[in-house]
Amino acid sequence: MNDKIQMVDLRSQYMRLKEEIDTAMQAVLDSAWYIKGPAVASFETHLAGYLDVEHVIGCANGTDALQIALMALGLEPGDEVIVPAFTYVATAEVIALLHLKPVMVDVRPDTFDLTAEVVEAAITPRTKAVVPVHLFGQTADMAPIMDVARKHGIFVIEDNAQAIGARYEMAGSRLAAGTIGDIGTTSFFPAKNLGCFGDGGAIFTREEGLAARIRMIANHGQSKRYYHDEIGVNSRLDALQAAILDVKLKHLDDFAARRRKVADTYDAAFSKLETVQTPVRSLKSDHVFHQYTLRIKDGRRDALKAHLNAQGIPANIYYPVPLYKQKAFAPFSEVKHLPVTEMLCKEVLSLPIYTEMRPEIQERIIQGVRSFYE
Ligand SMILES: *Cc1c(COP(=O)(O)O)cnc(C)c1O
Repeated sequence: MNDKIQMVDLRSQYMRLKEEIDTAMQAVLDSAWYIKGPAVASFETHLAGYLDVEHVIGCANGTDALQIALMALGLEPGDEVIVPAFTYVATAEVIALLHLKPVMVDVRPDTFDLTAEVVEAAITPRTKAVVPVHLFGQTADMAPIMDVARKHGIFVIEDNAQAIGARYEMAGSRLAAGTIGDIGTTSFFPAKNLGCFGDGGAIFTREEGLAARIRMIANHGQSKRYYHDEIGVNSRLDALQAAILDVKLKHLDDFAARRRKVADTYDAAFSKLETVQTPVRSLKSDHVFHQYTLRIKDGRRDALKAHLNAQGIPANIYYPVPLYKQKAFAPFSEVKHLPVTEMLCKEVLSLPIYTEMRPEIQERIIQGVRSFYE
């Protein structure tokens, strides 16, 4: 067995599900139906059932999913879209790419998500949409965000690349992350909670009209074959990836349970370290732990990371730089200082977490952190 510790051990999950996955992949190879076809349709239907949402449209990756979602809203150049400054670059990148204006706002120090108050304060007459990001595995507090969005007539796109399978309590139901706003997007990048063996993504919506528009945009703006109604893109989920995802979807709740168990063990191990804040769990969303992210509040985050790395224990910083301080976003950096985002960029440290983490591996990671404080 390989004892090198990894942030995410993808191989161990594949080995456990190998028979099921290999059979599904072989069926696609035998059919020679590589683009669209029954494998993609089957996965889209199963994912729609799992999420309890009317429409799921596969696409090439999570960044495309965000771009296509925005394109479907019919916005005008210069329209403003509110995004958290503490997120992966893709969330804001596609906004700028479409000549829209990303308006970056601060996040909560406990759950790292944006709040309805911050969103409302950022709304101007040009605001057309907000993109809450369900960071690290639990949803933003969506009910008040939806209220603010409805009150001001703006669209909500949920960037759900990190929280697929999480459920949020709202109006007496438990709604799947990504099905609460107008459109939800996700990524099937291998290291995501529902990961394929390459790139993949999907877009969810309850609305028939939006779904039709999204399908058309993802397929060269084509309404019927060789008739193009608008400028679109070519963004498809491959049949092979869909077949793999169809197998893995059946295990997604088990994956989340396994991740939560790892998180619980970390929580218990670190609860007595005074300057280490373990992940704060939302009261309304369950946590599927895409990342297990600590806040190191004694100013020694980088030293702890170096201490772990020196022992062969990986630990990563998601994310080290507020988006408005990135060179690429210089044209949008009239916001100069968001205190929580800047604090988090200095304090966060994510530890390895995955579905087949062996107790002895986790113990080495825990001892690595403890030894720093002894
Ligand atoms: C991974 C990720 C994306 C982009 O997904 P890709 O499939 O890599 O394009 C977008 N947003 C967030 C929050 C992500 O974590």
